[in-house]
Amino acid sequence: MTSDTDKHDISEARNRIIAEIGDDTVLVAASKRQPADRINAALKSGHRVFGENRVQEAQERWATRRESISDLELRLIGPLQTNKAEDAVQLFDVIETLDREKMLRALIKAVEKTASPPPGLLIQVNTGNEPQKGGVTVQGLEELLSQARETWPGEILGLMCIPPAEEPAGPHFALLKKLADQYALPQISMGMSSDYALAARLGATHVRVGTALFGARDS
Ligand SMILES: *Cc1c(COP(=O)(O)O)cnc(C)c1O
Repeated sequence: MTSDTDKHDISEARNRIIAEIGDDTVLVAASKRQPADRINAALKSGHRVFGENRVQEAQERWATRRESISDLELRLIGPLQTNKAEDAVQLFDVIETLDREKMLRALIKAVEKTASPPPGLLIQVNTGNEPQKGGVTVQGLEELLSQARETWPGEILGLMCIPPAEEPAGPHFALLKKLADQYALPQISMGMSSDYALAARLGATHVRVGTALFGARDS
């Protein structure tokens, strides 16, 4: 089956996005619910950094592909249930969505049990204080960060946020940048298809882009 990949040129979109965000920002291809031909097109264009939302979908997509691509970087950008921690530490190079102590403990146990190299961690910050959204509150960040720095056997790399859909993203991006600087954290993951250029201008080191890169997702 052919999709509309023919109309939407992934390589061209990738070049355009990379030109817009500049050399200091990494494009993370948010590949959730994208068909295999588009993933393959992104790989063929040279793309190597992918963000996945769900552990199981990521396993299905990457378990075999990964064996032939040594420089692949897989980042978990969706919420993690503690019962998936062992699978997650074995598959992902980076987990962007640490947001509670229970998850930190589950990840530590998972690394010990599986003897996997510990993924780098980002803490997701709920900058809009939305009850339904993942992420630690701004007030809770300091404590979770110090617990993570004391106990995680790998690196604590940075902060990630998903601003409220109905608000301008700029103030949320500026806040995340300020927090990352305050705590001397090198990675700042923010910005999606609608606002990655703004995020890059406001200090994102990583933007997570799905539809603007691949085209519309399968529903
Ligand atoms: C889906 C998703 C993205 C990408 O969304 P687009 O609007 O398609 O660019 C980025 N970050 C997270 C956490 C996502 O779930």
